[in-house]
Amino acid sequence: MSTNIVKPELLAPAGNFEKLQAALIYGADAVYFGGKDFSLRTMSDNFTREEILAAVDFTHGLGKKIYAAVNVFARNADIEPVAEYLAFLDGAGVDAVIVSDLGVLSLAKATNLDVHISTQANVTNHRAAKFFHELGAKRIVLARELTRDEIADIRRNCAAELEIFIHGAMCISYSGRCWLSKFLTGRDANQGSCTHSCRWKYNLVEETREGEFFPVGEDTRGTYVMNSRDLCLLPNIGDVIRSGVASLKIEGRMKSVNYVAGAVKVYRAAIDEFCADPENFSVRDEWIAELDKIPHRPYTAGFFTGDAQPTEFYSTSKPQRAAKFLGIVRAFNAATMTATVEQRGKFVVGQSVEFLQPRGKIFSQTITAIRDELGKELSAAPHAQQVVTVPVAEPVEIWSLMRS
Ligand code: SF4
Repeated sequence: MSTNIVKPELLAPAGNFEKLQAALIYGADAVYFGGKDFSLRTMSDNFTREEILAAVDFTHGLGKKIYAAVNVFARNADIEPVAEYLAFLDGAGVDAVIVSDLGVLSLAKATNLDVHISTQANVTNHRAAKFFHELGAKRIVLARELTRDEIADIRRNCAAELEIFIHGAMCISYSGRCWLSKFLTGRDANQGSCTHSCRWKYNLVEETREGEFFPVGEDTRGTYVMNSRDLCLLPNIGDVIRSGVASLKIEGRMKSVNYVAGAVKVYRAAIDEFCADPENFSVRDEWIAELDKIPHRPYTAGFFTGDAQPTEFYSTSKPQRAAKFLGIVRAFNAATMTATVEQRGKFVVGQSVEFLQPRGKIFSQTITAIRDELGKELSAAPHAQQVVTVPVAEPVEIWSLMRS
């Protein structure tokens, strides 16, 4: 590794236990999750206390780190339950908690947990970063609205570890500090219940013509004036690493296993290759192709480059079509060259598929046969989580994802 380059941590979302496993097996150094309470993603599956204990065991068994999001803006009634929850996380062996609220920070300080300041705290300058560091925070997750020069300036002026988002969905508001969802639906983004109202289709209504909707569209599909593109800093990964941040975070606790595995695999390879030889590094076409296969809206570098990047996408609020996720390889038999696949989407004999492997290259083939657990031949694997075997053209790693 080049002497001036410090390899950053790759931090991935764990919306449930399976996604946590996928993130770590595909190469993340650390994962973040939310418990059933006090995390700003109430619509992801989130972890029970039993699952948290199992998740800590699994993560530490691989020598990696696990952080708990406790980034709710707490009300008075939350204080005692939050304190009890933090004590549980401390006892469970979680490595750090991600907090936004100063009350929660003060409670976390009374435990042995490391404290990371959430992006919800909107740290945009080195004075704020230093202040949180002096209050006991080990790491600051910077606001997404910063340029690389501003990030580097905070790095020079603050000794705390810094973390930034490198990939995933963005808010049109200031890093999630938004009342749109609360105003329109009563569901509060600052309490983890955002309905993504910024992605809805909007019309103009003249105040005396109730019920008459005037379209304000750029085209026939409507107008999505607040629909943000997704962040992708893969093309800027060299500048990101040179900025000296300690941790690079992928957004998406509510996203699929396919998204987590694909994004982690790409950024793992890019970070490793850049740090091994920064002078001769270039972004590979196959990485860009893989990021196009996972669910996403059109990409943007957001605020990072400091120029006029497009940040909204006006055509549709729906994610672009991604590779269809068909199953997870649970076992491989080298003698028979067959893979045992836990099915997630329908596939049939004669279908072209590809295998995304945790470490090896992607390979494609045609499904020539499908057998159920009793060895009976099937023409299709139609049932969710049905376990079948299929012949494979190449040795395939366990935890590979079969897609079409
Ligand atoms: S409505 Fe949109 S901008 Fe507001 S918090 Fe939700 S996702 Fe973010």
